Amino acid sequence: MIKIQQISKSKIESVDFDNLVFGKTFTDHMFICHYKESKWQPPEIKPYEPLTLDPSASVLHYGQAVFEGMKAFKDLQEKIWLFRPDENYKRINRSAHRLQIPEFPEKYFFEGIKQLLKLDEAWIKQGEGNSLYIRPFVFASQSTVQATASDEYIFMIICAPVSTYYSGGEINVLIAEQYSRAANGGVGFAKAAGNYAAQFYPTSEALKKGFQQIIWTDANKHEYLEEAGTMNIFFKINDSLITAPTNDRILDGVTRKSIIEIAKGNGIHVEERPIKVSEIIKAYENGNLQEIFGTGTAVVVLPISSFSYRGISYKTLGTNNTAITLKKQLVGIQYNQLKDSFNWTVKID
Ligand SMILES: *Cc1c(COP(=O)(O)O)cnc(C)c1O
Repeated sequence: MIKIQQISKSKIESVDFDNLVFGKTFTDHMFICHYKESKWQPPEIKPYEPLTLDPSASVLHYGQAVFEGMKAFKDLQEKIWLFRPDENYKRINRSAHRLQIPEFPEKYFFEGIKQLLKLDEAWIKQGEGNSLYIRPFVFASQSTVQATASDEYIFMIICAPVSTYYSGGEINVLIAEQYSRAANGGVGFAKAAGNYAAQFYPTSEALKKGFQQIIWTDANKHEYLEEAGTMNIFFKINDSLITAPTNDRILDGVTRKSIIEIAKGNGIHVEERPIKVSEIIKAYENGNLQEIFGTGTAVVVLPISSFSYRGISYKTLGTNNTAITLKKQLVGIQYNQLKDSFNWTVKID
């Protein structure tokens, strides 16, 4: 079904796996599929290489592009596992739909990943923190500066070996009071390329002030806590975990929903509801703000030890027990070291 052209010599020998920078090293092969004449053409896997695009290619002008982020893991028996890949498949099509991009066929998506992983298997390293980051993406490739949805698209999958994402551990964040990530009726729920572009400027301003991320608040009044940078966000107050409900401003994270289920399985009370900035400040003042953490495929679970709001700095109680426990369980399932009672993992063979 997929035409495969293999590399003549792997570049893996030149890669320093002990010093990987996230997302800068890619494996030997890539998957590519063109949408033309109203249909997805037969896909191909070929050596990883630059693309040739017409300067008028629609994506370069109007940003019609969406992507996914997922990981493959290698267990102690050298078996390769994906984590809830069906969720990524459904989500890239939900994102595509919102961006007026044609839906990608399921069989191409899964067969593409499977064949790529088989070819580039040696790039997946065992051991905690090591995985292969898989980046499916699709963009408008028609040669035109006409401001309409493209007639042609390119769907690709590339893979990057990664190790633990943030080396620094805990982070300090700034609560947004001016900028927004997403608005009602917008594309915040989609993994649209442009969502990220719009975050770079506010984030770089926050970095200059010594913060690692921005906590995004609602675009209306900056009253509700929504996401942390490119992660979903959880607050532990009075032994309950609270996270914003998914809606058209919140990305429906696979890590988020997995953490919710694992937490419930541990008997932790979880509330999916709007949460105000004022509520966490009050919890802080009462000594009840136990933990804050972000969740996402790249970081898995990342404790946030302090935040700043209107020039005042606040700290959580700082044990991060829940974040650490939930992360261990999730990672244990991902690496096939703990029993997967949820049936989340998918073996590649
Ligand atoms: C991808 C993403 C997340 C995390 O989703 P996962 O499926 O857990 O990786 C959270 N927020 C935003 C804005 C994202 O783009």
